[in-house]
Amino acid sequence: MPQGVIVDGMSHAHVCRALGAAAAALTLGCATARPRAAPMPPVVPHAQWEARPRLGHAADATRRNRGAGDSLAFRDLTVTVLGTDVDSTGARPADVARLRLALGGATEERVVREGAAFNWRGFHVAVVAVYGPGELGAGLAALEVATAASLPPHVAASDSAGGAAMRLRIPHRITHVTLHHTGDARPLAPEDDVPAKLRALEAWGARERNWWDVPYHFLLGLDGRIYEGRDFRYAGETNTAYDPRGHFLISVVGNYERQEPTPAQLSAIADLMAWALREFDLPLERIGGHYHYAETGCPGRHLRRPLEDGTLRRMVAERLR
Ligand SMILES: [Zn+2]
Repeated sequence: MPQGVIVDGMSHAHVCRALGAAAAALTLGCATARPRAAPMPPVVPHAQWEARPRLGHAADATRRNRGAGDSLAFRDLTVTVLGTDVDSTGARPADVARLRLALGGATEERVVREGAAFNWRGFHVAVVAVYGPGELGAGLAALEVATAASLPPHVAASDSAGGAAMRLRIPHRITHVTLHHTGDARPLAPEDDVPAKLRALEAWGARERNWWDVPYHFLLGLDGRIYEGRDFRYAGETNTAYDPRGHFLISVVGNYERQEPTPAQLSAIADLMAWALREFDLPLERIGGHYHYAETGCPGRHLRRPLEDGTLRRMVAERLR
């Protein structure tokens, strides 16, 4: 791949747009008074690998995977999943979620089919998916809740949750820096085409999970090259039940239950983590792995080890000195 795809080889204006002025300022000296320590490492911009531009609409909204008995609180609205079921009364069986809505003293229970959306007391509620037995995230309902006033009119008026193009971008404030792996069935090999894998992840996420972009903010290949993923001003996605809001998501492409990270990968992970801690003014203790927050082995035992034995925190600390 030519060096031209790397941020360092691109125009200043383009990079400031691609990464956000705050991010690019460290490396490129857009007007700023920040210290120069922990610069943003070179990044392959999203536009260089994507099959199509990102989807979705920014809104005053949140989205969670919630199981029976779990609640989603947003503003003064609480949505509780009473259960998930299969409704066999129609022409085709449909997954449904039984919801209880509560706001102030008002409550209402509704049975909502997978893929349906409705408005209730100034909020727009979408049941994006109900994951049934055998599906990834089985027993969870993907709920999206927004203030109706923050939505584009066609979304606010829709009685369908819609697919990836209808998803909402969830603004968040970053408080944690969290490592993942993509968990591919097969370890990543040096001859593999990483941009093609990112496009496959983008397409799979849109088709199977209704995601508006790849689920992670940055992704890394074997050579330590860093690829820009989802815009980090918005929350990432998960197939588990934790709340991804607040997490700066770094994912290493491959399967680190089965393969060792390369020294170049560990170095790039540390570079990116150091940049994020500095940028969001966070202590070293906020570095973690997906397994700290959800029932998962992610990012795999060979990446849990450097998180557990202090290797990564030591490498990050060196970069912040
Ligand atoms: Zn993960």
